[in-house]
Amino acid sequence: MARYTDAVCRLCRREGQKLFLKGDKCYSSKCGVDARGSAPGQHGQARNKKLSEYGMQHREKQKAKRFYGVSEKQMSKYFEKATKQKGIQGENLLRILETRLDNVVYRMGYAMSRPEARQLVNHAHFTVNGRKVNIPSYLVKEGDVIALREKSRSLEKFKSVIEANASRPVAKWLDKDETNFSAKVVALPTREDIDLPVEEHLIVELYSK
Ligand code: SF4
Repeated sequence: MARYTDAVCRLCRREGQKLFLKGDKCYSSKCGVDARGSAPGQHGQARNKKLSEYGMQHREKQKAKRFYGVSEKQMSKYFEKATKQKGIQGENLLRILETRLDNVVYRMGYAMSRPEARQLVNHAHFTVNGRKVNIPSYLVKEGDVIALREKSRSLEKFKSVIEANASRPVAKWLDKDETNFSAKVVALPTREDIDLPVEEHLIVELYSK
């Protein structure tokens, strides 16, 4: 996918809220949202004016894409998949995004941010049901067991991330096994399990036009 390589903090400032893309920095006073607040660029303040209906729908979609780090093409494919599932389309869409392997790794506390989780998955540090998986967009299913590979467990990188995330709660739909550096998907996430400040019905309205 085409990756956004400019300062990622601009993305948060554009959305007017924290997207947690930079790990430690997001929890510090250096956070761009806390420090500056308004949208980036010369006309950032002016851009905070009231949005049209389309503008609001577009912003919610952009926010969800940026939270999970997915491209427009991936997002529209996920929406198509969501429409084919039973239930509420918006919730289905969020559930699909939430079950991406890179997000699961982040939710397990083995990465400081989703972009970092994506990189770690790319570098083949994780297994699903005992098999190496290096595809960040891999969608986990109920019953799957995601684990940090044995040879990666002693790496300083993971020791420090695990320590730093020790107090971060693990998603309820994951049963984490600290001893085996793994987590089992006990159930697919419901909307209440997904702490995303997004009005998903607006995304559905946008894609349904
Ligand atoms: Fe966003 Fe994190 Fe940058 Fe704050 S520090 S603006 S939350 S990426």
